Amino acid sequence: MQKNKDNSMFKASWTYNEAPESTDHIQIKKKYDLYIDGKFSKPIKGKYFDTLNPSTNEKIASVAEATSEDVDAAVQAAKKAFESWSKLTGKERGKYIFRIARLIQERAREFAVIESLDGGKPIRESRDIDIPLAANHFFYYAGWADKLAYAFPNRNPKPIGVVGQIIPWNFPLLMAAWKLAPALATGNTVVLKPAETTSLTALKLAEIIHESGIPKGVVNIVTGAGETGAAIVNHPDVGKIAFTGSTNVGKYIQKATAGTHKKLTLELGGKGANIIFEDAAIDQAVEGIINAIFFNQGHVCCAGSRLFVQESVADIVIDKLKNRMETLIIGNPLDKNTDIGAINSKKQLQTIENYIKIGLNEGGEIYQPDCNLPKNGNWCAPTLFINVSQSHRIVQEEIFGPVLTIQTFRTINEVVEKANNTPYGLSAGVWTQNGAKMFHLTQKLNAGVIWGNTFNKFDATSPFGGTKESGFGREGGLHGLKPYVKFD
Ligand code: ADP
Repeated sequence: MQKNKDNSMFKASWTYNEAPESTDHIQIKKKYDLYIDGKFSKPIKGKYFDTLNPSTNEKIASVAEATSEDVDAAVQAAKKAFESWSKLTGKERGKYIFRIARLIQERAREFAVIESLDGGKPIRESRDIDIPLAANHFFYYAGWADKLAYAFPNRNPKPIGVVGQIIPWNFPLLMAAWKLAPALATGNTVVLKPAETTSLTALKLAEIIHESGIPKGVVNIVTGAGETGAAIVNHPDVGKIAFTGSTNVGKYIQKATAGTHKKLTLELGGKGANIIFEDAAIDQAVEGIINAIFFNQGHVCCAGSRLFVQESVADIVIDKLKNRMETLIIGNPLDKNTDIGAINSKKQLQTIENYIKIGLNEGGEIYQPDCNLPKNGNWCAPTLFINVSQSHRIVQEEIFGPVLTIQTFRTINEVVEKANNTPYGLSAGVWTQNGAKMFHLTQKLNAGVIWGNTFNKFDATSPFGGTKESGFGREGGLHGLKPYVKFD
């Protein structure tokens, strides 16, 4: 292996041994403007808000707050750009999208550090999951751009026009990729808004989109909170809204677009059931439970937040789970050894703490490992609740944090009934060595995504989305193209 002068290993890649990950050479500006019509421009009313590092609550940068006037400018730029962008051949469009994918790969380290700094997630996750998946998403849909006639044979698919996209704070860059890549591949132009606590990687993405040479106005990125989002939703020249976020805001958007020409897809909350049968590979299942609920601090709409364990193995699974939880490292998101990072915002921490209180008041029995949480910033210990029942609020409502409820079951019918008994229908997981049982369960569970002997695995080729109050429409795979086209 090559060595540096000081005899340390040559750092060919950025996965190296010192922790925490250094922020040297990571360009973070003091102030971020809006990306409209191929330029970074100041918001018309001149307002900015702070984006904080959730592991310290210190300010990282100021971010522009777009008002309805700025949103209008972005929509007008997108409308104008649509005239020529929609007429380009799929092959030409694909070239730009491939370029964006490659630029994300080239800047992967920068993206990963900024994602963890601004959002609180462990660097291992942003480095190994979020950023590579975001690049893959652009690669995958770039490949479809010139094959739409094969995706929709004999149907003559056409782009819709200006698409408004509103994304959440849990997977900021990845959600931007899920939204932008299929919209661009199908010939639409976009106004995208990241969540107010995690704007920085979307703005970094704006920089590389600019660098890709894509024509001005094809992608516009506006920052701000709910009012900015509402201005996109209510703009008359927007032809489609794609939203990922809370069920409450999703319902508001559905009402706001009802009776208009706007197409809509919603990816909302969840309360995923993770079901462990007595014949499962128990150690593997315990790892799966950990990943299902503690991945990204539980800020995951498809998290396996309700565990159902077959009664005969419940004691052993819970014991092993507690032991494994003792080994989890909670702390600095930039430390590559960290398993659980910071809660994304003070507000979200309050929500989670409130649910923990509710769980205790409802009579649940809590378990948290012995861990020293850092003093500053937003932190929550990984938490289990046993002795809970179907009617408990912590079993029914989405907590969006590292809090798992555990219930037991005896029969397949019993667990299917319990698993389906929530307003949500996004995800589920089944752990069994018996293939027939696995297939039976996948037919019976009311969820858009069902994992078998694994959990929280994502791939650009695979459709993702919910049923019931978890929303409608699919992202990913061939299915993910459909919401962005119309037919003659
Ligand atoms: P959470 O409650 O977990 O913060 P939200 O659903 O509020 O999640 O946020 C998801 C995204 O929706 C964010 O980008 C947020 O700014 C945006 N948003 C919030 N309120 C509205 C609204 N009324 N209309 C459109 N977008 C909104």
